[in-house]
Amino acid sequence: MSQARALDHIDPLKAFRDLFIIADSTVYLDGNSLGRLPIETSKLMREVLEVQWGHRLVRSWGEGWMDLPRRLGTKLEKILGAETGSVVLADSTSVCFFKLLVAALRAREGRTAVVTDGTNFPSDLYVLQSVQSLIGHLEIKLVGGDDDAIEIAPEAVEAQLDRNTALLTLSHVEFKSGFLHDLKRLTAAAHACGALVLWDLSHSVGVVPINLAECGVDLAVGCTYKYLNGGPGAPAFIYVSPELQEKLTNPISGWLGHRAPFDFDHDYAPASGISKFITGTPPILSSAAIEKGLDLVLEAGLPAIREKSVHLTTTFLSLAQELLVPRGFEIASPRDAGQRGSHVALRHPEALRISQALIQEKAVIPDFRRPNNLRFGFAPLYNSFADAEVAIESLQQIVDDRLFEKYPTDLSGVT
Ligand SMILES: *Cc1c(COP(=O)(O)O)cnc(C)c1O
Repeated sequence: MSQARALDHIDPLKAFRDLFIIADSTVYLDGNSLGRLPIETSKLMREVLEVQWGHRLVRSWGEGWMDLPRRLGTKLEKILGAETGSVVLADSTSVCFFKLLVAALRAREGRTAVVTDGTNFPSDLYVLQSVQSLIGHLEIKLVGGDDDAIEIAPEAVEAQLDRNTALLTLSHVEFKSGFLHDLKRLTAAAHACGALVLWDLSHSVGVVPINLAECGVDLAVGCTYKYLNGGPGAPAFIYVSPELQEKLTNPISGWLGHRAPFDFDHDYAPASGISKFITGTPPILSSAAIEKGLDLVLEAGLPAIREKSVHLTTTFLSLAQELLVPRGFEIASPRDAGQRGSHVALRHPEALRISQALIQEKAVIPDFRRPNNLRFGFAPLYNSFADAEVAIESLQQIVDDRLFEKYPTDLSGVT
């Protein structure tokens, strides 16, 4: 038995793999972009479609649909270590980010700077830029403007914070390198100079233990379709600490964030608590598809998930160091597992063509991020140690036999 097979054999989470639809022998290492489909979700969706929509029709709004964004919010609270009543589903991550960004800036009027980092997910940077053009006097301070930085020292972030900082906003796990910020330390640093903090948890929720309440986080957003396996384009979540909920206002006030939507008043009056951050009608089909994935994460437990995640990325990186670095690859993720989320990046001058060869010839699915990054996401609920080993062996063969050479050097569209 190979070492990977031996590790799979004693893996305490191995039974979870059978709870996902896995139709063929594809080695799927892109769960950090779109998680796999849980079998129970597939069954539930049939009921939601045929019974709740098909038969019950509009009555279903009163039979569970209206409460769904908050009911699933309570499950997310457990995953996020958040207070009761602090999480709700809404919109996409980018829109949620916009809402909380504007809400935070209003709550810190007089301060004019937002601190983030140059390796943050572009959508967050774009939203910052659009808010800057809306309100005019916002300074966006980028820590480490280098797009290819692998690690961002907490000291470098702290050095940008001062009495003019309204908000510190970072991705907990960086989308390219997988670098894991010290959420507790940086939250405290922002507070020490009177700023608020907004974390984008898209690449950490469901795979890194997070303790929003204990760390005193003010605001957070995140995706449900990555490690939570909620399905393509499933709505995002919003977290607002209980203490701030009454102080902040939702800049996109809509009827479903109103105190009494069915009064159809002319004037807006916010709902109490987290519900005021809802804007319009929740997308029920894609919201319903999130629930079973949340249940799987809660059942496995974040300590066990994190332990396996660290073990998977460490196994992959040590094999990469031994077998791929001598073949021209460079490791583009933190070496210290404590500073890493659950995906790792390798760089190679031929990364784009190698990624195409991996998918086409070896049925191993990573993703490619410009200019030369190959990302490998490890989702502990369904990835195995054998997956890591197969990916390494495939990369070795592709480079040794130059299998990438027949693929185009330019590729437009989705990578
Ligand atoms: C995936 C991801 C998003 C996605 O945003 P959407 O608006 O839901 O498409 C946002 N932020 C980060 C950090 C991400 O990794």
